[in-house]
Amino acid sequence: MTEQLQTLTRLRTGLGTDLHRLAEGLPLVIGGVAIPHSKGCVAHSDGDVLLHALIDALLGATALGDIGLLFPPNEVQWKQADSAELLTRALAHIRQQYPAFQVINVDMVVHAQRPKLAPCRIAICKRVADLLGLPVDRVNFKAKTGEHLAPIGTEEAIEALVSVLVLV
Ligand code: MG
Repeated sequence: MTEQLQTLTRLRTGLGTDLHRLAEGLPLVIGGVAIPHSKGCVAHSDGDVLLHALIDALLGATALGDIGLLFPPNEVQWKQADSAELLTRALAHIRQQYPAFQVINVDMVVHAQRPKLAPCRIAICKRVADLLGLPVDRVNFKAKTGEHLAPIGTEEAIEALVSVLVLV
């Protein structure tokens, strides 16, 4: 195998998705950024739908299962857990298996009818880049609505999708 081909086989893609129910009076955290809004995600942890999808994408790229396997939702230690802390722990778990693990780039989408997330785009990209130890030009965020269709468009839920490319 040529050296170039060996490097190519170390490249892995990962896909993560997550969806949370929204409820009045809860804090809304997306990509590690607190977003001012009347509703927040119902969850065992802090309900950061975007970081949950990111963790699933990273675990997917490395064939290490999913977030529920690593942080079982019935375990009391993850109650109201900071998802940024979960991401840090997931990265440490991945590096145990793949010491040379590196994230190449991240592409993220959140579907939410409200609040408008486009104004938070740069803050979310910076925060995620920081958590991953990446330059911000390797991280992208797209905010989309739910076209007023249930459950996202009727503001009952919020959904995130994340694609990653990594080197193992
Ligand atoms: Mg979740």
